[in-house]
Amino acid sequence: MNEVVAIKALEPIAGSGPIYLDHHATTPVDSRVLEVVVKMMAEEYGNANGVENIHGERAARAVADAKETIARILSAEPEQVHFTAGSTEAIQLAISHAIATHSAPLRVAMTRVEHKAVIDTVLRAERLGLVEKSWIEVDENAQLNWQSVERVLTGGVDLICVMAANNEVGTIYPVRKVTHLAHHHGALVLVDATQAIGRMALDLDDDILDYIVLSAHKIYGPKGVGALVSASFDRSSVYGLQGAHNPTPNVAGAVAMGHACRLMELEGREENERLAMLRDRLQARLISLVPDLKVNGDSTSRLPHNLHLSAAGAPNDIVLNRLRGKVSLSTGSACNAGAQEPSHVLQAMGLPSALLESCLRIGLGRSTTLDEVERAAKLIAEAINEVRHDFTGGTHV
Ligand code: PLP
Repeated sequence: MNEVVAIKALEPIAGSGPIYLDHHATTPVDSRVLEVVVKMMAEEYGNANGVENIHGERAARAVADAKETIARILSAEPEQVHFTAGSTEAIQLAISHAIATHSAPLRVAMTRVEHKAVIDTVLRAERLGLVEKSWIEVDENAQLNWQSVERVLTGGVDLICVMAANNEVGTIYPVRKVTHLAHHHGALVLVDATQAIGRMALDLDDDILDYIVLSAHKIYGPKGVGALVSASFDRSSVYGLQGAHNPTPNVAGAVAMGHACRLMELEGREENERLAMLRDRLQARLISLVPDLKVNGDSTSRLPHNLHLSAAGAPNDIVLNRLRGKVSLSTGSACNAGAQEPSHVLQAMGLPSALLESCLRIGLGRSTTLDEVERAAKLIAEAINEVRHDFTGGTHV
């Protein structure tokens, strides 16, 4: 291989490799999306901001087409789609925009189970005196507590942050109902649809385009590209310096995201049915192999590729160590992983500490097979049972 290209290659993984069940953290890029990325980078490299020449014009057209695809999926208009460097940036832009277009401080209510990208942004804005925040409580399945929703609405609020689906336990939220209520009280809604896009029919209508946040790398697109879809957003009216200048568009990323969305539009329903079936199979196998296993989240309203478990008496970091190199899954959200603090989502659900410390998040994906599910069930069950035995001699309950 060319020396310049051979940047410190990773050791190849032996055999058929570990089973990847961490699709909530990120998904592999679909080979059809990858083809688009390479083509755009190699052939359509014009600057989409510089349409005085044919290269720029072609790049701009490709970005416009990608916007059209994303807009169609969300029943939005193409000009309402704003590409970003992922969901985190889209969230920051949305909240900065809401701050800039309301009188200070912006009154924000958010659920206790929002992604840290939302929570940290709101808390930072609060420390800067730009925001006054309140919390929306959830129940033991991470579903909204409607009394809490009513309370924040009647107390006066400018912006409500309710995710479309939770990235840890997979609970799906009735965002349309929340939006109707919020609009009735004069509040805007920020819907973090990062985990939901392509996985479920988004419960949206024309009424709900305040701020919707998406990311490509959860649907087999590349990392570092996402979108803020909004009827009112305008980069030039964002609080702070971010809106001062329009960056050069990430043409390959935008087009790849459009293509990833298109594939989800075409194949998502079938894929999701298959994944729900595999997930149910994995859940049933694990329940039969591991005594006293608890399934977390709302089993009546859950993402099809999500399985979130607690196995009291088996600390999750030790279970994951045993599975290292065999099955890749995680303890929770990407940003809690590695940090020692327990998940804020599970805390909000009121899980007892024995269950908090033993939670495992499994995310299935496009390449997951029945054979992998069978092998993973055995490996995960073995790891949990061994860890339990080492820690408690098998008397965990
Ligand atoms: N919101 C949710 C619900 C997520 O799951 C994630 C990523 O894990 C993010 C936001 C952040 O997305 P990104 O990685 O595109 O910044």
